Amino acid sequence: MKKVMVLNCGSSSIKYRLFDRKFNTLLHGIIERIGERARILHHKGKKRMKKEIDVKNHKQGISHLLKLLHDSEWGAIKRVTEISVVGHRVVHGGQMAETALASGVALGYLKLFTLLAPLHNPHNITGIEETKKAMPTVPQVMVFDTAFHQTMPRKAYMYGLPYHYFDKYAVRKYGFHGTSHKYVAQDAARLLKKKKPNLITCHLGAGSSITAVKKGKSVDTSMGMTPLEGVMMATRTGDIDPSVVQYLVKRYEFDFDEIFDIMNNKSGLLGISGVSKDVRMISGRAKKGNERCKLALEMFCYRVAKYIGAYAAALKKVDGIVFTAGIGENSPSMRRRICNYLEILGVKLESSQNRKSGKKPVKISAKDSRITVFVIPTNEELMIAREATRAIGGI
Ligand code: ADP
Repeated sequence: MKKVMVLNCGSSSIKYRLFDRKFNTLLHGIIERIGERARILHHKGKKRMKKEIDVKNHKQGISHLLKLLHDSEWGAIKRVTEISVVGHRVVHGGQMAETALASGVALGYLKLFTLLAPLHNPHNITGIEETKKAMPTVPQVMVFDTAFHQTMPRKAYMYGLPYHYFDKYAVRKYGFHGTSHKYVAQDAARLLKKKKPNLITCHLGAGSSITAVKKGKSVDTSMGMTPLEGVMMATRTGDIDPSVVQYLVKRYEFDFDEIFDIMNNKSGLLGISGVSKDVRMISGRAKKGNERCKLALEMFCYRVAKYIGAYAAALKKVDGIVFTAGIGENSPSMRRRICNYLEILGVKLESSQNRKSGKKPVKISAKDSRITVFVIPTNEELMIAREATRAIGGI
């Protein structure tokens, strides 16, 4: 009877998944376009519902979801007490290293970090507060994208600013996608049959980040105080000289916020290609000879490969490289291009294996490759469910 619910509240959406106690999915879905013409996409087994609904805010969204969970045809519970715990995805947890019960104090601390993740944290917090009200007897646990990276040593997370910027303003690298990096790192350890391997995990989706995992712990990661740092992404610049901002503001009178909007939402694959932020679309045009599309793909792969090289140095010895998320899981050609840069590390792909993309983990390196390379589909929701269950001492 005991179940685990996972919620991911975005600015205008609520993604949800209900697991049984063995972490099998009972149902899942998304309520999106909250506030406008809201609609729900709900899956239960092979049945799928898609319809417009009258949901104006997160409060109404949660209440709609609760009604649906109780529905005899579409739901999976009779009483809300069947849900043992709700795990919430929270983007920025500041210096919180562990999952935390969503107490008033913890939420208060989280609000301090809202400025660092203005696009996500406020909605995560609203989602948690509304869920707490709707299910007052069910423990609510926050699982942070940043938590896995709290094991980074100071030399990795400090910026070269005067020290008090860290002390006084908490300016440092936090890193993101931690739940995903942790999940694939654990799975890679299982596949390698090694308890604590050294790994480089590459989460390559719309947002992309690379992490150096030493004996199961994150020791460096490419995203920074915010997700803007690191490799080039679908619409984000990734690493860039901050003086570019000053130059554009002073010399060309750009508006400061406008530049950050451009760097977050109009750059990267989209900005370079001028065509799309989606690798599938860009690849199609590149094949037809579009030079900017070719450049966008090449820049992406080159920058990912440079981080892998840097993290090989940080780890000294690398047992495995893992590709995950939309691009990492589904694009053999991007994986090949990235690995072509890694000859110095002795990385060799088995092309027949690399062509495989699916829902199961697959080893794509050749037998004589010095480092084993995997594609491992990420499962952040499952990881959040496990972490939330662990946080309440099991169910
Ligand atoms: P999000 O960060 O939104 O969760 P995803 O991990 O789902 O992103 O990744 C989305 C991206 O994955 C798309 O923008 C696209 O570039 C890429 N992608 C998805 N499927 C494929 C595919 N079959 N081939 C190449 N790229 C793909």
